[in-house]
Amino acid sequence: MIPFNKPLYTGVEDQFVLASMRSSKISGDGEYSRKCQEWFQIKLGCVKALLTPSCTHALEMAAILIKIQPGDEVIMPSYTFVSTANAFVLRGAKIVFVDVRADTMNINEELIEAAITNKTKAIVPVHYAGVACNMDVIMEVANKYGLYVIEDAAQAMMSTYNGKSLGSIGHFGTYSFHETKNYTSGGEGGLLIINDREFAERAEVIREKGTNRSQFFRGMVDKYSWVDLGSSYLPCDLQAAYLWGQLSIADDVNETRLEAWSKYRRLLQPLADEGYIELPFIPEGCKQNAHMFYFKVKDLVERTNLIEFLVHNGVQAVFHYIPLHSSAAGNIFSRFHGQDISTTIESERVVRLPIWYGITTAEIEKIASVVTGFYK
Ligand SMILES: *Cc1c(COP(=O)(O)O)cnc(C)c1O
Repeated sequence: MIPFNKPLYTGVEDQFVLASMRSSKISGDGEYSRKCQEWFQIKLGCVKALLTPSCTHALEMAAILIKIQPGDEVIMPSYTFVSTANAFVLRGAKIVFVDVRADTMNINEELIEAAITNKTKAIVPVHYAGVACNMDVIMEVANKYGLYVIEDAAQAMMSTYNGKSLGSIGHFGTYSFHETKNYTSGGEGGLLIINDREFAERAEVIREKGTNRSQFFRGMVDKYSWVDLGSSYLPCDLQAAYLWGQLSIADDVNETRLEAWSKYRRLLQPLADEGYIELPFIPEGCKQNAHMFYFKVKDLVERTNLIEFLVHNGVQAVFHYIPLHSSAAGNIFSRFHGQDISTTIESERVVRLPIWYGITTAEIEKIASVVTGFYK
């Protein structure tokens, strides 16, 4: 069976993980955490980048930083991972979903303004498959109404929008280093990207159990104490060491994934030309990172049959997401603004094919020929 995913691991991680294990500081914010955070600060040109135990935690930190209160509303797409919503629900927010664009499965930027009320506090665009949302329109609407923008860029490391790294455009951005993402810090991990100087200091406090320990370590205060809300939002240095290895080959990984993605596209183009399937669309100005190779089939029935056919022929293909507004928790914590024209119907058409760093041409050719065989 060709698996759907293989977590990124090349061996380049070993030396750093071992060095970390043998050092005298393996808890959070050790040498490798500092190295990774500096790497991201330079790469993204952000005010501050803070490693977190997951993207979920980075989103939770953002919700605390913008002081979400019970009853505040947060606008986002329903076609996303649960954490995008849960991070804000945990602080009492009501989630307001708006429809996605069928072409990218990203939030439909034209529908956001109409969903804004006097309770709206933030917009959370999700860069699906590492392809950027229309950030120009989203930032314009946010600025007009004084709203915060938190980019859920969990899938989007190395992707850009008009030359800007995803995650570096809104007030905050978040990355995931879960094993299913393009880069991992050993299975779980994340990053909070802070682009507004106003939040830099308080973010460190929230991440260090609500204390000013980070300032203490920098010699800025002579003792540390409890100063604010907080939790333990920092990963251990072993995780950072693992990630540090992967950052040293970040460009190679990105280029190799993009080559695999292009191969799929080339091999499946004939099926698209004949109207059997729809291939992904990358808007102008967007550079993607080949996080996902997905395409769309006719409907839910065809998708179920195709995935079964693929599994039967040794290919583990998958689908996602069940739109959040139609889930049990969604009923309680959210509402859908306007009509669900694309979210549900389009979500039922998505099929994801195996992709990872190191997938071979032979594997891609086999998978493409099984897909073709299903239709022919
Ligand atoms: C993977 C993912 C997350 C969650 O990331 P974790 O690191 O597992 O917490 C959040 N949002 C989106 C869009 C994701 O794809």
